[in-house]
Amino acid sequence: MNHTERIVLARQSLLGVSIGDAFGDSFFGDEDAILERIATRSIPDTRWEFTDDTVMSISVCEELEAQGDINQEQLVKRFIACHDLDPRRGYGATLRRVLREIAEGEDWQTVSARVFEGQGSMGNGAAMRVCPIGAYHYDNLQQVKALAAKSAEVTHAHPEAIAGAIAVAVATAIATGMKLGGKSLSPGEFTDAILTQLPESDTTSRIAKAKTLPYSYHTETLKKVLGNGVNMTAQDTVPFVIWCASHHLNHFEEALWKAVSILGDRDTICAMVGGITMMSAPGNSVPKAWSEAVEDVGNSIFRTNAGNPSL
Ligand SMILES: [Mg+2]
Repeated sequence: MNHTERIVLARQSLLGVSIGDAFGDSFFGDEDAILERIATRSIPDTRWEFTDDTVMSISVCEELEAQGDINQEQLVKRFIACHDLDPRRGYGATLRRVLREIAEGEDWQTVSARVFEGQGSMGNGAAMRVCPIGAYHYDNLQQVKALAAKSAEVTHAHPEAIAGAIAVAVATAIATGMKLGGKSLSPGEFTDAILTQLPESDTTSRIAKAKTLPYSYHTETLKKVLGNGVNMTAQDTVPFVIWCASHHLNHFEEALWKAVSILGDRDTICAMVGGITMMSAPGNSVPKAWSEAVEDVGNSIFRTNAGNPSL
């Protein structure tokens, strides 16, 4: 497969991220009202605007478009430029500070390593932006892992954040390969294929735990065991994402309804689930109304070549 064909895959995944992100973000508000909306499958009034998850995924996708690789200096410049174009996209406080300090002249290695008293950030912000990497390099998991780690460490130096990014990128790669190869994987097979690629970490242990939780489990139980991103860390966000995607590889819409039902960091959870399942699910499971309504990535201000979606 050539670069152009791979870029089509990366952009397809990015579309899944943007729909999931905007969808999930529309479900913040009074919890009872939101749960009622989810039970009746009624999307709140929304402008279908995406948030930081998609904005940062656009930057990752543009790096891939440039060279199929991640240049860390360039990537961090893209992150800063896109943040400054519209800072009100739901960035976390730590990430904003990291980007500001780098913009003011410090090198990313120093800033990224200094966060959280020298531990580095274990936030889910590294995992939320890597889906295009998995789609682009779907047939080379070593490359997926290397680029996911590179894209993570410019802002998230903690091993948990990097493990989370690798998990989501590998999940996207396996989902992509599954569809292109005409294969079908059970939830357990899909999760095992991811687990074999992951470094030892709390995030990995929780993904292994996720594999043992049947689909019939109540959302509250899943939340207790896997987390729902309420701490916005990789280890309390990514395991449920993998669980949810593993059970809905064949249906994008169902995946997102399940994803949002756990509440918590719902824009980020839905962004990742959307980016993964967009690659494995048939196109007719993506509601046309959603893909038409979502803010257009190709024409957004965050695109270096906004207005020229062919680039
Ligand atoms: Mg967000």
